[in-house]
Amino acid sequence: MAPDHLEETVSHRVVVLGSGPAGLTAALYLSRANLAPTVFEGLQPGGQLTITTDVDNFPGFPEGIMGPELMDRMKAQCTRFGTEFVMDEIVEIDTSKRPFVVKPSFGEPMEADAIIVATGASAQYLGLPNETRLRGHGVSACATCDGFFFQGAHVVVVGGGDSACEEATFLTKFARKVTLVHRRDSLRASKIMQQRAFDNPKVEILWKHEVVDVLGDQKVDGLKVRNVETGAETVMGDVTGFFLAIGHVPNTKPLVGKVAMDGSSYLLTRPGSTHTNVPGIFACGDVQDTVYRQAITAAGSGCSAALDAEKWLEGADWPADAP
Ligand code: NAP
Repeated sequence: MAPDHLEETVSHRVVVLGSGPAGLTAALYLSRANLAPTVFEGLQPGGQLTITTDVDNFPGFPEGIMGPELMDRMKAQCTRFGTEFVMDEIVEIDTSKRPFVVKPSFGEPMEADAIIVATGASAQYLGLPNETRLRGHGVSACATCDGFFFQGAHVVVVGGGDSACEEATFLTKFARKVTLVHRRDSLRASKIMQQRAFDNPKVEILWKHEVVDVLGDQKVDGLKVRNVETGAETVMGDVTGFFLAIGHVPNTKPLVGKVAMDGSSYLLTRPGSTHTNVPGIFACGDVQDTVYRQAITAAGSGCSAALDAEKWLEGADWPADAP
């Protein structure tokens, strides 16, 4: 007998949106619970770890592991237990019906009794006048993807967190000089990441400066920066690469107006669980995490989402204090 909130005739199809550590861990648990999940992999299959290099802080890999390899392994583990993968992204969700209907950008709409949202977050840009025009022509938000093209160059990384330090250090493999431009006089990055950047003779830090614009006609050939204290503007005339590492924005577009979000568009979940305000929709990973944002915490919350979904599909009530 199916619980009241599910129709007798409908199989318990669970759709997972996103294939980073959160989505794949959710899929692994769902598969092992015989819930036969379908994972829509999204525009970046494997998520942010596929554009990173060494991952030294995922437990179980004492020598570290490359981000893409870690994600390949997670996917293989899901496949072993029967997860179905679709290389597409969901562009629309109908939450007014039960089962829900999710619409991919290419394939046929699919029904889902429960949805686990693990769509993660994407790199943030500064919104500078020439930033978009020069994207792919010297402006990038992924050192791992594009660093190779800057052999012997002077490049700038903007930001002060772990990503900025990691990208600056990584870029020294190719560039002759990396300037880290940061708006304050101390970094937000973890001590170990800061130290790696400080210890690298090719990394220079330009404190208390912000980038005002990227210069160049067909490709980047300079950068204009401003001293945040004096307001003085300077042109860095030999810079040919500009890398943004100023954080991320959650990927929640198809859910706007349907699932409760905070002012920065992160999905709201009930404290201590993955329930959103919509019964049947669960959220995990970076799309709902404004605090930890680590691969391992994303994986942990993916596990929680799968267990929460399983209980709900078995008939558990939706918590009254969900957002
Ligand atoms: P983040 O920690 O949010 O840092 C963003 C940085 O960009 C901050 O230093 C911030 O400056 C700066 N920033 C933001 N907006 C800016 C603007 N408009 N203009 C100039 N600067 C701006 O982001 P993240 O470095 O991407 O890291 C995100 C999460 O992923 C963190 O939890 C981090 O620990 C994790 N992560 C971990 C690893 C690893 O362990 N291997 C690697 C990468 C990321 P302020 O400091 O002044 O606010």
